[in-house]
Amino acid sequence: MPDIIQLLPDHIANQIAAGEVIQRPASAVKELLENAIDAGATDIQLIVTDAGKGMVQVIDNGRGMSPTDARMAFERHATSKIKTIEDLFSLRTMGFRGEALASIAAVAQVELKTRRAEDELGTFIRIENSVVVQQEPVQCPVGTSISMKNVFFNVPARRNFLKSNTTELRNIIDEFTRVAMAFPEVKFGLTSNGQQVFALEKGSLKQRIVQLLGSQYNAKLVPIKEDTDYLTISGFVGKPETARKTRGDQYFFINNRFIKSAYLNHAVTHAYEDLLSKDSYPSYVLFIQLDPQHVDINVHPTKQEIKFEDEKIVYAFVQAAIKHALAQFSIAPSLDFSLNADIQQLDAVSKPVTDDIENKTISSSLYQTFTQKNQAHKIEPGGGLKPLPTSPLGRHWIDAKQQTDEIKKAAQHAAGLSSPPAGELEGAWQSELAKLREQLFEVSPKTQYADLEYEMRPVSREKRFQWIPETPLMQVHFAYIIAITNHGYLLINQQGAHERILYEQLQKAIFGKPIATQQSLFPVSIELQPGDAVLLTELLPDMQQLGYQVEPFGQHSFVIHGTPADVDSGNEQKAVEQILEHYKNFNAEVKFSRREKLVRTLAWQQSIKAGRSLSDKEMRSLVEQLFLCTVPNTTPGGKPTYVEYPLDQLQRTFG
Ligand code: ADP
Ligand code: MG
Repeated sequence: MPDIIQLLPDHIANQIAAGEVIQRPASAVKELLENAIDAGATDIQLIVTDAGKGMVQVIDNGRGMSPTDARMAFERHATSKIKTIEDLFSLRTMGFRGEALASIAAVAQVELKTRRAEDELGTFIRIENSVVVQQEPVQCPVGTSISMKNVFFNVPARRNFLKSNTTELRNIIDEFTRVAMAFPEVKFGLTSNGQQVFALEKGSLKQRIVQLLGSQYNAKLVPIKEDTDYLTISGFVGKPETARKTRGDQYFFINNRFIKSAYLNHAVTHAYEDLLSKDSYPSYVLFIQLDPQHVDINVHPTKQEIKFEDEKIVYAFVQAAIKHALAQFSIAPSLDFSLNADIQQLDAVSKPVTDDIENKTISSSLYQTFTQKNQAHKIEPGGGLKPLPTSPLGRHWIDAKQQTDEIKKAAQHAAGLSSPPAGELEGAWQSELAKLREQLFEVSPKTQYADLEYEMRPVSREKRFQWIPETPLMQVHFAYIIAITNHGYLLINQQGAHERILYEQLQKAIFGKPIATQQSLFPVSIELQPGDAVLLTELLPDMQQLGYQVEPFGQHSFVIHGTPADVDSGNEQKAVEQILEHYKNFNAEVKFSRREKLVRTLAWQQSIKAGRSLSDKEMRSLVEQLFLCTVPNTTPGGKPTYVEYPLDQLQRTFG
C-alpha cells in the first residue's frame, strides 16, 4: 500500500484558511478598512458594487507599501505588525495575523495599487487564485487602493451561500459603521453602486455618532468619561428616552476594536436599572482603553470576541461609570451599587497604592463613586461584601416566572399529572400517565416538546371536548382564561391563543385579501440606523399586505401612513421597531421564508400579552375565534395554547 498523506498545495491551504477570515463581502470590508487604519490613513473611501459580490474596493491615503512589501503582503502569515509572540500583548494595531490579504487573494480577483511618499512610482499587482498574474510600476497617489472582485468566483459553493443583496449590503454597512465609529478623526466615505451612502467628515465622536446613527440622538447623549490607572472609559450612553425596541445601537470598543460582549452589555443595562422598560434596550457607544497586556484578542478569527484578564473588574467599572454619568445628569436618582466579592481579590484592587496613584485616583469621579460606599480600593478585606444587586426588573421577572411555574405545577397536579411518590410508579400508572398527557395536549409527544409547528399534525376536527359558550369565563392572574367544557374545563393561555388566531388570519392575508389599514391622522416619521433601514425596505411590500403602510422617505427615514386597526395611534413607531427587533432575533433551527418570519413576528407583536386584563366580551371573542382555527391547540411556535382538565380526571384526583 502506498503512503497516502500529502501536503496541500498553497492555494488550497489558503482557500481553507480564508474560510475563517472571509465569510462574506462584509468580512473583506472589515479587513481592508482595518488595514487602512493601521496604515495611518486620514481619508478612507469604501466602494462596493452589487452588495460587495461584484466588487469591494478600499482607497486610503495611508503610508503605502514598497514594491517588495506589496508582493509580500499577500503571503500567508505575512505581517509588518508583530515579530514575536510577546508583541501580541502590546498590540496597538487592528491587524496582526497576516491572513487577511492572503485569504482575500485566495477567493477573489484582487488588484492593488500602492505608493509610499518617498517613492516616485507606485506598484500595481494583480492576483487571482493566490497567483500573481501581473506586477508593474504605476503612477498613483500616495496610499493604497485594493479592490476585490467577484468574491468566491473559484469556490461556487460559498458564492451560492451568500445572502440577498439587501442582507449583504446591510452586513457591509454594519462593518463600515463599526470602524467609522471608532475613528471619528478619520474621514470616511461609502459608495454603493455609484450612490453615496455615507460621507463622513472628520469630527468629534458625538458628531460621528449622529452622522452614523441619526439625528434623533442629537442632544440625547450622556457623556461618559472615567479614568483610572487600570482602564479608561469614554463615550456616550443614550438618555432613557432613546432606548429602543431593537438592540441595534449598542457599540463596545476595546482599544478601538469593536467587540461583542453579552457580559458587558449586561453591565450597561444593569446600570440603568428601572429607568428602562422591560422590552427596551439602552443605546450606547462606549470605548474602553486598557493596557493591551490585560486583554487577549487572539481568541476569535475575526477578533470580535476578546478575553479580559479581569472580566469582573471591567464589568464593575463600566457599570459604575454609567451610573455615575446618569446620576450626574440627574437621570438616575441614586448611586447605589455594590461590588462582587471576587473583584476584591483582583490584582488591580489589592495591589499597593503609591501616593502618586492615590492622588490621581482620588481626583477621578469614578473613585468617588466607588468610595461612596467605602468599596473597591478602600474595601477592608473580608468586610462589607454584598453580591451585585438584583434590579427590581430582574426580581419581577423571577417572581413572574416562579408564579407561572407554580401555576403550571398546580395545574398539572390538579390534573393528576404530577409525579406520584416513588414506589408507585408501576407500569400501569406510567402508561395511564402517558395516555393522559397525550389527551391533554391533543398532540403527539414529539410535538409536545417541539418548538416548531412544522412538526405538528393538525388536530382532528371532532374534539374530545366542547366549550360551552353559555358558561362564564374567568381570567386568572391576567394571563389565563378558564373555560368550561362539556366534561371538564380548559385553562387557556391568553397570549398563546391570540398568537394562534392572528397567525392564521395573517397567513390568509398575506396570500389573499390584505389586512385593512387604518390611516394615521398624523403620519409618523421614523429614522432608523442604516442596517435596519435596509431590512425594513426589504419587508415593506409584505408589511403593506399585512396592514402597515410605510414609505421610504430620504436615506434612512420612513413615514408610517397607516397601521393595522389594532395598533393604537401613538404607538406606530414602537410597533415598527418591535417588528424589526423580533424579526432580527428570530431564532429557529428551521429556515423560514421571509414571509413566514414576518407573519410569525406580527402575530407575536400584535398578540395581547400576559398581564393584560380582559373584559368578558374580549375573552369570549378570543375563545370563540380560537376554536375556529385550523390548529387551535398550539401557538405558531408549537407551545400548547390550552390544557384540558377532564372531569373524570378531577374526580380521580380527589379520590
Ligand atoms: P495584518 O493586517 O494582520 O498584518 P494583512 O494580510 O491584512 O495582515 O496585511 C498584510 C500586511 O500588508 C500588513 O501587515 C501591512 O504591512 C500591509 N498592508 C495591508 N494593507 C495595507 C494598506 N492599506 N496600506 C499599507 N500597508 C498595508
Ligand atoms: Mg489586516
